[in-house]
Amino acid sequence: MLVDAELESRLSAIVGAEFVRTDAGAMEPWLTDWRGRYTGRARAVVFPASTEQVAEVVRLCAEQDIPMVPQGGNTGLCGGGTPLDDGVSVVINVSRMKTIRRVDAAAYTMIAEAGTTLADVQRAAAEAGRLFPLSLAAEGSCEIGGNVSTNAGGVQVLRYGNMRDLVLGIEVVLPDGRIWHGLRTLRKDNTGYDLKQLFIGAEGTLGIVTAVALKLYAQPSARSTAWVQVASPDAALSLLGRLRDSCGDRLTAFELIGYEALGLVLHHMPDVRAPLQGEQPWAVLVELADAGCEDELRGRLEAALESVMETGMVQDAVIAQNTAQAKALWALREAIPEAQKREGVSVKHDIALPLDRVGAFLQRAGDALEAYWPGVRIAVFGHLGDGNLHYNLSCSAAEENQLLLERSGVLNRIVYDIVDALNGTISAEHGLGQLKREEIRRYRSELELEMMGAIKRTLDPRGLMNPGKLI
Ligand SMILES: Cc1cc2nc3c(=O)[nH]c(=O)nc-3n(C[C@H](O)[C@H](O)[C@H](O)COP(=O)(O)OP(=O)(O)OC[C@H]3O[C@@H](n4cnc5c(N)ncnc54)[C@H](O)[C@@H]3O)c2cc1C
Repeated sequence: MLVDAELESRLSAIVGAEFVRTDAGAMEPWLTDWRGRYTGRARAVVFPASTEQVAEVVRLCAEQDIPMVPQGGNTGLCGGGTPLDDGVSVVINVSRMKTIRRVDAAAYTMIAEAGTTLADVQRAAAEAGRLFPLSLAAEGSCEIGGNVSTNAGGVQVLRYGNMRDLVLGIEVVLPDGRIWHGLRTLRKDNTGYDLKQLFIGAEGTLGIVTAVALKLYAQPSARSTAWVQVASPDAALSLLGRLRDSCGDRLTAFELIGYEALGLVLHHMPDVRAPLQGEQPWAVLVELADAGCEDELRGRLEAALESVMETGMVQDAVIAQNTAQAKALWALREAIPEAQKREGVSVKHDIALPLDRVGAFLQRAGDALEAYWPGVRIAVFGHLGDGNLHYNLSCSAAEENQLLLERSGVLNRIVYDIVDALNGTISAEHGLGQLKREEIRRYRSELELEMMGAIKRTLDPRGLMNPGKLI
C-alpha cells in the first residue's frame, strides 16, 4: 500500500505535478456535486491529458487496490462523480482531454475526446455545417464523456434521441488499465454484442471513457419557437399529438413548464419576464426546426397553433419573431434548475412515464403528497415529449427544509411507487449515482439486478471503478 506522498509522486510522474491535487482545500471543487448535496473525500484528484495517461493512472490505482472515481464537468445531478466519504479513492477528472480528433462533414461523424464540453462539440459540428443535437442547460460545463456515461437526454430527444442514439463508437480505459479502441464510425456493424452500449449510461462504473465517435445531422436552416399556455397537462399532451400530426419530425422540442417552476425563475432571475400575462397553471415551450426559410416555418407553427386554439386546448400563445426572442423563451426554461438551487432545498425526481399515464401520475401523486403533507410545493417541468418530468418538492417556509430532508424517504416512496405502478421509471436521464443506488433495488427485478451485477463483476471484478454508485 502506497503512503500518500508516494502516491502523489507516482501520479505526478504520470501527469505532471501541477495536475495532481492532494490538499483537501485544493481538491474541494471536485469533491462536491453541482447541487451541493454530496461532499466526499479523496486521496487525490488527478487530471490526465491523454488516453495513455488515463490508462497509466488506472493501472497504478488497480495495482495498489485504490478505488477510482471518473469525473467530467461535474454537473451530474445524482452524486455519481463525487467520491464517497471514506477518503480512499482517487478522482480521475478528464477535463484536460479536449481535442476534437476529427470532423468528417461528408460522413456526418465526429471524434471528440471525453473532456470536450458539449457546447464545444456543438460548435465544432456547426463550423463544419452540421448539427450535434444533444442540448441541455448545462452544455457549457458538462463534457461529452459525462454525457455518454449518464446517457444524457435534454431538450431535443423527441427528434434525435438521447446520447445512446448519438454514439457510433467509443474509446474506454478498462478498470485494469487496458484500452479498448472501439472508436468505429460505422452506421452498421453486427459483429456480436454491441459492447459500447455497456459503457453508455454506466456512470463510470465499468471504465473511463476517453473519446467518443458521434453521429452528426444536417444543420436546420430555420427554427421557430413558441410559448403556449395550456389549461392542463392533458391539454399539453393533446397539443403534442396535434403538432406531431401536422409538423411531423419538424417538432424538435416540447417542454412542459408548471407555474410553480416558472414562478421560481421569475422570482430569482431579475432579468427575465413572463412571456404572457396571467398565472396560467401550465405552459409548453415548443420548437420546430427544418430546412427552408424561417418565415415559412413560423407560418406553419402559427397555423398549427391557430387550429388548436379553436378547440380550447390552447389558451394563449406567443411565437418568437426573431432569434433573440427565441433565446429569451429558452432562457426561461433553462433557468429552472438554477432558480431551484437558489430557492434552497428540494427533493428532486427525474421520472419518465408512458405518455398516456402522465396525467394520471400528476393527479395521483399530487393527491397523495397533499394528503401526506398539506401545502408541500410541487414544481413540475420537463421534456413532456419524452414523457420525462422533473417532479421536485420543496416547502414554502425555509425553516421546514430540515423536515423536508428527513421526510425525503417517504416522499420518494410516494412518488416512485406511483411511477412504478404506472409502468414508468425512477430515473429518466440523470442516472442513479449515489442518490438512487438503493431505490433501484426496489424497482428493478431480481433478474435485471443479477444481470447488471454479472456485467459489473466481469469488467471490474475487484469493484474499484466508481464504487458505491449505480449498483
Ligand atoms: C443546470 C443543469 C441542467 C441539466 N439538464 C440536464 C438535461 O436536460 N438532461 C440531462 O440528461 N442531464 C441534465 N443535467 C445533468 C448533467 O448535466 C448530465 O448528467 C451530464 O451528462 C453530466 O456530464 P458531466 O461531464 O458533468 O459528468 P459528471 O457530473 O462529471 O459525471 C456524471 C457521471 O458520469 C461519470 N463520468 C463522467 N465522465 C466520465 C468519463 N469520461 N468516463 C466514465 N465515466 C464518466 C461520473 O463518474 C458520474 O457517475 C443538467 C445539469 C445541470 C447542472
